Amino acid sequence: MNTEDSWTNTVLAHARRPFEVWLSCDDCFDRSDAILEDVLDRDLPLPADLRAHLIGCPACRDEMETLAELIAADSGLDPAEGRERLDARIARP
Ligand SMILES: [Zn+2]
Repeated sequence: MNTEDSWTNTVLAHARRPFEVWLSCDDCFDRSDAILEDVLDRDLPLPADLRAHLIGCPACRDEMETLAELIAADSGLDPAEGRERLDARIARP
C-alpha cells in the first residue's frame, strides 16, 4: 500500500546525500563573496568542496555566475570575463 511513499523517500534520501557530504546551499552562499574574490582578483582555484557543490547544484552555480558578473563589473573587468573565469574553475580544478 505504501510502496509509492517508500520509493519516494528512498529517492529523496539519495538525492540529499551528495549535499550532506559536501556543502549545503547556505554554506555555499555564505562563502561565495570571498571565494569569487579569490577566483577573480587573485586567480586562485575553487575549494574542492565548493567546486563539487557547484557541479551538482545548478541553482547555486547560476547564483555564483551572476555574482561573478557583478563582482567583475565592480573591479573594472568585463562581466562576461568574470563568468568565464568562474566557469573555467568549475570545469578544471
Ligand atoms: Zn546549492
